[in-house]
Amino acid sequence: MKKAEIDKRLLDLKARQGTGEKMPCPRCGRNTIKAPLAHNALSRYADLYVCDECGMTEAMLDMMRNPLPLEQWAVFKNTGPELDFKALSMQEVVGRVLGSQTEELLRLHRAWVLRTDGHTFDALREQALKACPGIMDLRENPFCAVYRAKDGQVLIRLRWDGNKSEIAVDTLPEKKK
Ligand SMILES: [Zn+2]
Repeated sequence: MKKAEIDKRLLDLKARQGTGEKMPCPRCGRNTIKAPLAHNALSRYADLYVCDECGMTEAMLDMMRNPLPLEQWAVFKNTGPELDFKALSMQEVVGRVLGSQTEELLRLHRAWVLRTDGHTFDALREQALKACPGIMDLRENPFCAVYRAKDGQVLIRLRWDGNKSEIAVDTLPEKKK
């Protein structure tokens, strides 16, 4: 991720924290930021509040002169620790993805089908990797989002019927060794 993009996201997060929005800690993605905001730890590396645990970790890493790079913060990574699909079965992954990412996948597909010149699939894939936690890849043709479960792969395929996207789910079990 480019520095300018990180800066933009940081500003956006700061604004959201300022409004008291309930959100996970941007650094670890695990603990929830407490209300009021000032009861959390102010990060040493970004103008943002992080959870107490991260505040303490930052202080320790700071002492060791080994801070966690900002781009490694949970909020800048594709997957949070709670979205480790590799521990789930294919059926569970299908449930999670359809439950929480259908809208985003439909939006991405629609944006691709109705794209204007100058839009590359690479840029779309990058958006998908950011917006869809747990996603491994987005493929162009046939258009599909790929997720990895512990027992195989889950493919969410999208097809354009002329005026809207249709979703189909495929699972590809891994061969037992
Ligand atoms: Zn944290």
